[in-house]
Amino acid sequence: MSGISLQSKIVYGPIFSRRLGRSLGINLLPTKIKTCSFDCVYCQYNITTDWTLLPDRECLTTPDEVLSTVEKALQKPRSMDFLTFSGNGEPTIHPDFLEIVKGVRELLDQYRPDANLALLSNSTMVTSPEVQEAIRLIDAPMMKLDAGDDITFQAINQPVEEIHLDEIVMGLREIPHLMIQSVLIDGKVSNVRGEAYQAWKKVLVDLHPQTIHIYSTERPTMCADVVRVSPPRLSEIAAELTEKLNLKAQAFWRE
Ligand code: SF4
Repeated sequence: MSGISLQSKIVYGPIFSRRLGRSLGINLLPTKIKTCSFDCVYCQYNITTDWTLLPDRECLTTPDEVLSTVEKALQKPRSMDFLTFSGNGEPTIHPDFLEIVKGVRELLDQYRPDANLALLSNSTMVTSPEVQEAIRLIDAPMMKLDAGDDITFQAINQPVEEIHLDEIVMGLREIPHLMIQSVLIDGKVSNVRGEAYQAWKKVLVDLHPQTIHIYSTERPTMCADVVRVSPPRLSEIAAELTEKLNLKAQAFWRE
């Protein structure tokens, strides 16, 4: 089974996103190989080829290239709600992420003051002071949290060796107006049943983020053991988080 193709450019879209409306994507990572600090079992792309926290600068787009491409895209007459760092892997592992975010923030304020800046991140770099500084410039930093215990975290997200969940949670505590995104899956590995589900909820209560977006896989995944969580079950979980745990959660799925 093969995943979807990688983005072939620095700027792509606008695409209509379930969570962000009309969103113009910014991809900071290589277009030929998937570069990420995770290899999530549900990833819509193929398996991670460059599995790293430190991608080789030679293979990456430079801040100047990103900023000139974004500026040209913002000069085109099209409507958008968000400009979103996302793309072919984890944006925050780009070594010049802070410089790029500062530049993009300025361009957005200049050309589209009504639009917002978003980030879809897997949270692995959240303990880095530079990444924390960059996140503070972003209106909607959506930070991934799929597990509340390290065993489930390792099984679902398959991080590079040096990453552990307790460090990520510690970093997430430092983010003001934290927004969490969680992919819920069932099957051989599950975060919607048993102790794994209880641990995930416990960490959410501890973090008390501004919002929690939950969703499941929509496409066939590389891993045949991954089972999609149904929309009624997602709604049930969102209701439990909101009504019983006093959190603000929303469930998303494709009709
Ligand atoms: S963090 Fe995102 S891009 Fe990286 S493996 Fe997981 S789902 Fe794929």
